[in-house]
Amino acid sequence: MATNTDNIRLSFDEVRQLAEQPLLNCGISREHADAMADVVALAEADEARSHGLYRIPGCVQAVRSGKVAPRAEPEVTASAGAVVRMDARCGFALYPLRAGQPLLVDKARQFGLAALALNNCYHFSALWADVERLAESGMVALSCTIGAHNVALAGGSAPAFGTNPLAFAFPRGAGRKPFVFDLSSSVVAKGEIELRRRSGMPLPPGWAVDREGALTTNPDDALNGAILPFGGHKGAALGLMVELLAGPLIGDLRSAEALAIDTHDGGPLRGGYLMLAIDPRHFGGGPGKMEDADAWLTSLAEQHQPARLPGTRRHAARQRSLAQGICIPRVLYDQLLELC
Ligand code: NDP
Repeated sequence: MATNTDNIRLSFDEVRQLAEQPLLNCGISREHADAMADVVALAEADEARSHGLYRIPGCVQAVRSGKVAPRAEPEVTASAGAVVRMDARCGFALYPLRAGQPLLVDKARQFGLAALALNNCYHFSALWADVERLAESGMVALSCTIGAHNVALAGGSAPAFGTNPLAFAFPRGAGRKPFVFDLSSSVVAKGEIELRRRSGMPLPPGWAVDREGALTTNPDDALNGAILPFGGHKGAALGLMVELLAGPLIGDLRSAEALAIDTHDGGPLRGGYLMLAIDPRHFGGGPGKMEDADAWLTSLAEQHQPARLPGTRRHAARQRSLAQGICIPRVLYDQLLELC
């Protein structure tokens, strides 16, 4: 462990421990804490800080407020065809998603295309971890969930839908990480605005509007106003699609409904989560075509520099972090030590 005044450098295992211990201490079951610590530590390693360690105090608070059931055992409520329905029973989402994956993959191998609809869950993390794992088992994966109810329609000035992330992963050849993108429907995830608020930094122009609908660079005004959708009406359309898929389609809440029953403890909103798994072998995507796709992605990355493919920043950060350690703000470290 190395320190300077503002930051502290930890190994991956130390970061994982710093994530897991506060969760166990507040009564979260080992299965949940294990799944959550894995993803949070990976987010820190990948320098995806908006969904890293800083989420842990919010998760602890969400348990203390009685909102999240810390030891909820997920239940498969239907699995007759290609659709697996699971109830998280008001627990965090990552353990149910991990537990449901083998059944989802079996169904996709059997039917070609399968879906996992998870209800009544609290998803606080980045989605790339969920789809990357699925692609590592050979599946093409797509997932989405409801996010914080803070995003305006294009041209609007009040929250109309959630930050609603959408993630996609496509398997690649041996030794290569899957092609992955994972984006919120907003210009930026709400966590980025929160992190800037905490460090006293202004927002770049174009991220948000204040309560009156005027563009703002002030994080507080943005959080009281609305975050803008990415890409104007196109991002708004995708955000609405996610809201419909992870909400009404699977019999779960829209982001405004989730906000209305929230306890405002700093933890995530309750809601649904939809994950699709596609087995390429059922669609003509046998080894030859998948190898073609892999070679194409490699050539894009090589021939179009300095442009890059999504996911490559994260994967490079992961390699660096595993070799050199992970830098986290000392103030966050001290806050988490108090919870350990
Ligand atoms: P970003 O805008 O930072 O990145 C979105 C995607 O674009 C990533 O796959 C990223 O890859 C890629 N990308 C970024 N810059 C480039 C570039 N210059 N060239 C090519 N690709 C690029 O993410 P967001 O702020 O939209 O979302 C951050 C996270 O927030 C997501 O992981 C999302 O799942 C999470 N989130 C979770 C919610 C929840 O309720 N659980 C709610 C809302 C968001 P790379 O990572 O390699 O940079």
